[in-house]
Amino acid sequence: MQEVPDLIACEGCDALYKRPELRPREVARCPRCGTVLERHWGRMHERLLPFTVASLILFAIANLFPIVEIEVQGLRSQTTLAGAVLALTRGEMAEVAVLVLATTILFPLMQLCILFYLLLPLSVRGQRPAGFNILVRAMQVLRPWGMIEVFLLGVLVAIVKLSGMARVLPGAALWAFMGLTVLLTAVLAFEPKAFWRIVFDREARKGVPP
Ligand SMILES: [Zn+2]
Repeated sequence: MQEVPDLIACEGCDALYKRPELRPREVARCPRCGTVLERHWGRMHERLLPFTVASLILFAIANLFPIVEIEVQGLRSQTTLAGAVLALTRGEMAEVAVLVLATTILFPLMQLCILFYLLLPLSVRGQRPAGFNILVRAMQVLRPWGMIEVFLLGVLVAIVKLSGMARVLPGAALWAFMGLTVLLTAVLAFEPKAFWRIVFDREARKGVPP
């Protein structure tokens, strides 16, 4: 089999470099434009699994418990974030509702599920699961939409839009959302391309050809 040189391309200026040998927590930058070439995540991926599981639990609490109380024609009812967003779709704010649904529920849930699916076999058996390549690429495509800023903006828009017609309940769902924001900041900072480094390093140690 032909030996593939271990090169890395700068995302900022396209310069090619030999992949640097990094120690834990070291960061390599392009000498030409300063873009981060590679970051050593230390043992981050091992801590990522418990963070991901905790995020999924908080995500469930945040979305299963009521977060707002809506009053319609004198009748009060408590509803979850999804329920409130569905109420928005019936009004004139359908586009806003779809955006809120995607940024606060759909994208974070997809990313957390993919992360869990990738991390569990990697951490437990040191193996990559079926569909690894496609899912890492899917994570990269989803990443701009799963940024914590986008998530917060979605929550903010939902609260502002709903505040006219609903009262935000200071209950389990609201606390779970706050905790989730903190956890997601750590979880979503992880770059999906680092998965390649993890599996190649591991397989190189085992002597398995890539
Ligand atoms: Zn560069």
